[in-house]
Amino acid sequence: MDRNADPLIEVENVAKWFDTTQGVTDRLLGREPNPVKAVDDVSFTINEGDIMGIAGESGCGKTTLGKLLVQLHDPTHGSIKFDGQDITDMSNQEEQEFRKRVQMIFQDPFESLNPRMTVFQSVVEPLRINEMYDGYQARRERVIEVLNEVGLSPAEAYLNEFPKELSGGERQRVAIARALVVNPDFIVCDEPVSMLDVSIRAGVLNLMKELQAEYGLTYVFISHDLSLIRYMCDRTAIMYLGDVIEQGPTDDVVMDPKHPYTEALFDAVPEVDPEAERHRANVTGEVPNPRNPPSGCRFHPRCSKIIPPENWTGSQAAFRRAFQFKRQATIEEIGPEEVDADPETARELAVDQLLERELALELPEEHRGENETAHSIDVAELDLPRDAEQTLRDAANAILDEDYDGAREVLDGEFQTICEREHPDLRVAVDQITACHLYEGEERKTRVGAPSADD
Ligand code: SF4
Repeated sequence: MDRNADPLIEVENVAKWFDTTQGVTDRLLGREPNPVKAVDDVSFTINEGDIMGIAGESGCGKTTLGKLLVQLHDPTHGSIKFDGQDITDMSNQEEQEFRKRVQMIFQDPFESLNPRMTVFQSVVEPLRINEMYDGYQARRERVIEVLNEVGLSPAEAYLNEFPKELSGGERQRVAIARALVVNPDFIVCDEPVSMLDVSIRAGVLNLMKELQAEYGLTYVFISHDLSLIRYMCDRTAIMYLGDVIEQGPTDDVVMDPKHPYTEALFDAVPEVDPEAERHRANVTGEVPNPRNPPSGCRFHPRCSKIIPPENWTGSQAAFRRAFQFKRQATIEEIGPEEVDADPETARELAVDQLLERELALELPEEHRGENETAHSIDVAELDLPRDAEQTLRDAANAILDEDYDGAREVLDGEFQTICEREHPDLRVAVDQITACHLYEGEERKTRVGAPSADD
C-alpha cells in the first residue's frame, strides 16, 4: 500500500435498492414500495495500487457493491468516481474508455466464459469489442502473451480448447486472462477462488498478487473467506446488511476488530491449528431480511454488546437478555404454549417458566452465563434491577393472556437502547473507522477511506 498514492475510486453515499416500484398488491392496498436496500449509503475511497477487501456474510451487499464499482449496476443514489470521473454520468466515449480500464472477475468462470467459445475466442473478444491491437496477428500475439502470463503455457496448446475441456483452475486463469488482456487499471474480483479446489487456490491467488505488481493494478477482493482477505488485502471493509460497518488496515481489522459484528465474524473463523480451541460467535439469531432492516444500528438484534440506557443499574448481560425478550414479545414470537404450567391455575409458576425460558439466549456454551443453558436461565442470578424484573413479569403476564399490545407497552418504556433508536455515525476508533455507538466520543467521519500521507 502506497500512502502517497492518489485515490482511484471515490464512493460517496452510494445506495442500490432493488424492487423500488409498487407491486400490484401494494398499489391496491395503497402501500409505499418496500425496496430491498442491498447497499445503503456507503462511502469510501480506494487508492491506486491498493488491494481492498470487502468481507461479510452472504447477502450483505458485497457483490452488489462490486458490480456498482464496475457499473454493472447503476446506483439508486450517490456518486462513484473513477480517476476523478463520475461513472454515473459518462459520455459514450468516456464509457468506452472506462470499460477498458475496469474489469470484473466472477466467482464462477462459467459466468464470464461462453461455453461455445474457445479460449482464444474468449480472450480476444474484449480486444475486438474495445478495438484494441490492430489486426488478427497482433491480437493473437497479445492473447498468447497474456495466457502465458497467467500460467497457461504453452499458450498455443490452450487456444482451441473449450471451457469444458479445462480444469476449474485453468478456467479461472482464462477468466483472469480475459480481464487482463485489455491492460486494465482496476479489477473487482468477486470470490475469485471459492469454486476452486483448495489445493489450487493458493496458486491462483499468488498469480493475482504477481500480476498486481507487474501491471500496477488496483484490486477489490470480495470474499466471505476471511483468511483469503487477510492474505491478499491491504485494507478491508466489513459489510453488514448493506452498510460498511468497519474499515481499516487489514491487520488492524483482523487482529483488533472494533465493531462487535467484525469481532463475531472473526471469532467464527475456524483456527488453522486443529488442536486449537474453536471459537464460536457470540451473536443471536440470523441476518434479518434486507427488505426490512432493523432500525438504528442494523446489527442491534444480534449484538452481544448492545448498550443499556444510562439509568440502567443492572449488568449489560442482563440488559441484553431483557432486550431480546422485548424483541421476541414485540414480534409475537413467544406465547403461553412455551410453558408447562397452566396460566389459569398456576399463574406465578407460568410467569417464572416463561421468564426462565425466554431470558435465555441460544448461544454457544462458551458465551452463556452461569446457570444458563440454550433454553433456560436462573432469573434470580441475572443481575436485573428490581423494577426491570417487575416490568418483565408484567409483560410475561400480558403474554400469557396473549395481550401483546399490553406487553409491548410495558416493555417499550423500560428497555430502550440508543442502538435500536439511532443509526451510528462512522467514527475513528484507533486505526479503524467504525459505525458503532460504543465509539460515540470519538472523532466523527463522513466517509471512510484509505489514509493519505497527511493522516
Ligand atoms: S451500535 Fe450497539 S448494537 Fe450496534 S454494534 Fe455497536 S453496540 Fe452493537
